[in-house]
Amino acid sequence: MDEKAGPRVRGINRGKYYRRFFVFFILIVAICMGASFIPVNRISLVHKPAPLPTAMNPNFLMQVNNCFIPVAAVYGYTLRITDGFRSIADQTRMYYQGRTINGHIVTEAPPGHSLHNYGYAVDVVDRYRGYNIDWAKLVKIAAYCSLESGGVGDLPHFEERAGLTTDQFVLGMRPPLLTLPCTVMAGRTASSSPLTLKDLNACGAPKF
Ligand SMILES: [Zn+2]
Repeated sequence: MDEKAGPRVRGINRGKYYRRFFVFFILIVAICMGASFIPVNRISLVHKPAPLPTAMNPNFLMQVNNCFIPVAAVYGYTLRITDGFRSIADQTRMYYQGRTINGHIVTEAPPGHSLHNYGYAVDVVDRYRGYNIDWAKLVKIAAYCSLESGGVGDLPHFEERAGLTTDQFVLGMRPPLLTLPCTVMAGRTASSSPLTLKDLNACGAPKF
């Protein structure tokens, strides 16, 4: 009984297998035909990454110039930007300095892997005291302005990544627009009148 039933069962299974394969094949053909009717520009729009910039991001720079630098000034720091936007060519030159080009290593970020390349980073120094300043305090002030520090290995570096990884920047993703934490800030910069501790208190800013 078993010897006769065995091959018959296998035959039925093989038939089912071919039918399933045929249905699957028809399905794939139908999907491919459907996809060919989607306009090409619609596909490219969905996957189009943000183009590489050629200057600082204006919204990030506004946050630096109207919040970070003025608030730091309230606390006695005269910050000067030493480096902002870097093109891929600039970053390439910097990255190979100390590696294949003579000089000291100045960056660990390969071309396209620094937020300077996307206009979302600045390096700062105190005009009078140089780098001998309270960086921990500046990190707190930066955080109030929605900026992040480069960390222990890169204290003068401040950037805005809003939770994005560097790879996401490479893929074309960008942070959302920031707004100033204190509405008087833009007016103070526009009228060249310095931001004051009184302004910050009125805005409910924390003590730094
Ligand atoms: Zn930097």
